[in-house]
Amino acid sequence: MRSNRINRSNALTRLGPETIIQTQPGPRSGRRVPTDVSNPQYYHKVVDCQWACPAHTNVPEYIRLIAQGRYTESYLLNRESNVFPGILGRTCDRPCEPACRRGRVDGKPVAICRLKRVAADLRDDIHEFLPAIPAQKNGKRVALVGAGPASLTVANDLMPLGYEVVIYEKHQRAGGLMRVNIPSFRLPAEVLDEETQIILDMGVDIRYETPVTSMAALLSDGYDAVFVGSGAPKGKELELPGRHETDQVFIGIEWLANVHFGHVDRIGERVLIIGVGNTAMDCCRTSRRLGGKDIKVIARRSRPYFKASPWELEDAEEEGVQIVENHSPKRFVLEKGKLVGMEMDRLRWVEQNGKQKSEILETVLLPCDSVILAIGQENSFPWIERDTGVGFDDENMPIVDKKTFASTRAGVFFGGDAAWGPENIIWAVEHGHQAAISIHNHCMGIPLDERPAYGMNLVSAKVGMHSWSYSNDYSPAPRMKMTHAELTKRFSKLSVEVELGFTLEQTVAEVERCLNCDIETHFTSNLCIECDACVDVCPVSCLTIAPDGPEPDLRTRLSAPALNLTQDVYVSAALPQTKRVMVKDEDVCLHCGLCAERCPTAAWDMRQFDLLVPYAGRRLPIATLPSGHVDRPVSAA
Ligand SMILES: Cc1cc2nc3c(=O)[nH]c(=O)nc-3n(C[C@H](O)[C@H](O)[C@H](O)COP(=O)(O)OP(=O)(O)OC[C@H]3O[C@@H](n4cnc5c(N)ncnc54)[C@H](O)[C@@H]3O)c2cc1C
Ligand code: SF4
Ligand code: SF4
Repeated sequence: MRSNRINRSNALTRLGPETIIQTQPGPRSGRRVPTDVSNPQYYHKVVDCQWACPAHTNVPEYIRLIAQGRYTESYLLNRESNVFPGILGRTCDRPCEPACRRGRVDGKPVAICRLKRVAADLRDDIHEFLPAIPAQKNGKRVALVGAGPASLTVANDLMPLGYEVVIYEKHQRAGGLMRVNIPSFRLPAEVLDEETQIILDMGVDIRYETPVTSMAALLSDGYDAVFVGSGAPKGKELELPGRHETDQVFIGIEWLANVHFGHVDRIGERVLIIGVGNTAMDCCRTSRRLGGKDIKVIARRSRPYFKASPWELEDAEEEGVQIVENHSPKRFVLEKGKLVGMEMDRLRWVEQNGKQKSEILETVLLPCDSVILAIGQENSFPWIERDTGVGFDDENMPIVDKKTFASTRAGVFFGGDAAWGPENIIWAVEHGHQAAISIHNHCMGIPLDERPAYGMNLVSAKVGMHSWSYSNDYSPAPRMKMTHAELTKRFSKLSVEVELGFTLEQTVAEVERCLNCDIETHFTSNLCIECDACVDVCPVSCLTIAPDGPEPDLRTRLSAPALNLTQDVYVSAALPQTKRVMVKDEDVCLHCGLCAERCPTAAWDMRQFDLLVPYAGRRLPIATLPSGHVDRPVSAA
């Protein structure tokens, strides 16, 4: 047994605005009923990383598999939900990391994304573990427009069910923006090729260099369903004086695609990148490799408002890119037809009536040879006739149902960036999973809103009197830092990968930082003798036995007040002796198991929670399974 005392107040003060945790109405919402832990979403929410992941990847289990050297299993577990573990292990936007419980303990989340890459890099061949593709097809044909991550996920989910899937792709290769926009120094072509090919090898009929130019024509081909995964392919313009008087102003996503296709291999020495999102980061770092020496990224606001991920900013600055805050472009300056700079207003932001307003301090000239515009992307559907029944709103965006991904025309679905504008790969994947469920329902005559249920397995982690099937010691190790290629080496060629991956030592240290949030505390109220042993031993004071009351009041009467309202408190049924209740603040629990080790009656147990995520055509157990592990059924419905 351990006696690590963690400073709880420290953990609480670490909660900052960057701790983004999705919320849903708590199961108790003021009513005096015990917490319903048979609802899979209760324990799911406790696993902060899995809850925040759009595809609900089982992070703690894949980290434990890595810890055991079971890389292939870890990869396969990842693949089930996020489909592209090698790609995402390098490029994911990582919404899981700001949510990670470890960040609330020592300020630094587990390096979840980088560990995913470890599994991808060290796995064996997985082909024998992929789902079998039926030789006998089910008679349904589905057309997918575009071969980006959204469409590829739809294909991945439908092929094992016997569908004939045809993908129309305007380029020569699959991958979408992952291929033509994400630079190869972040995502090597081999990784992309391998993971896209796994899906195409399921027997997908992919037609390259075949842009769909008419939805009406596609619909007349008699497909049972159509999925639009054509992305948000249009970069935003910046119509300022001088914009069209030079050939040295480029639109970021077009420019990156031209670099990918080899149409562009140089840029001016002095480059201004307008915008400070992730596209801007790829533009500035690519410029650095194509001859740019003095590269400035121009931001209208100050750093806390930047859209770029902190790690991308860090990488760009490491490569000598300068970030210029609080500047607003005014005009392109040309001399004798040659671009020589941009005039900008230098701004100061002041708060007025709760709103930020800008004041111009001065107008400055920033010299440059080239400008890249990276101020956003837009959707564009010139190929969808407006009389096909596929409805569009006032902003020319398709009308798409948030739950079913259905358009206003039966049998036509949207997903990925095409549905609601630019997002990221992991959202495109999740859209693909949900759209595949809808396409399957549509083709099988099941109502679209009849979604397959989530399920769960909950199995005791006890393997001895005081031992558990997981490593429950708190590791004080700091977050491991990824080693990068030497600056001189990485600028020698566009395709030199910058991040080198974790070493074995780093992997060992990082996996131990995970708190195993899926090993859940499970309480059986009628076994409790109210001895307070668990309350006393808990290192973060998250347990209290107290008289029952409304939740807002109860939260203030705990051993330490439960201040984070985005996290639930667990409330037991009335305890046998005094009718008080056991209350647990889920926010700060370390999943250390000390309460269960100390409890003399085994009222507390540590149980491994396994969320059963439904996919197209897969049945799931309806009821909660109290014990014994059941493999995920993968048979077609
Ligand atoms: C510069 C840049 C960097 C990015 N970096 C990251 C990152 O690091 N991590 C991250 O998670 N996300 C990143 N993203 C976002 C991510 O790439 C996208 O959100 C994701 O690729 C969207 O997937 P999708 O399948 O919806 O569409 P896309 O990936 O855009 O794929 C759409 C496909 O449809 C094809 N197509 C379009 N129209 C037609 C047509 N009419 N007929 C046939 N084919 C058509 C296109 O050629 C393309 O292959 C980045 C985006 C950009 C621009
Ligand atoms: S500590 Fe581990 S299980 Fe908990 S949120 Fe972070 S990565 Fe997920
Ligand atoms: S597992 Fe039990 S003892 Fe450990 S932090 Fe959570 S409630 Fe406290």
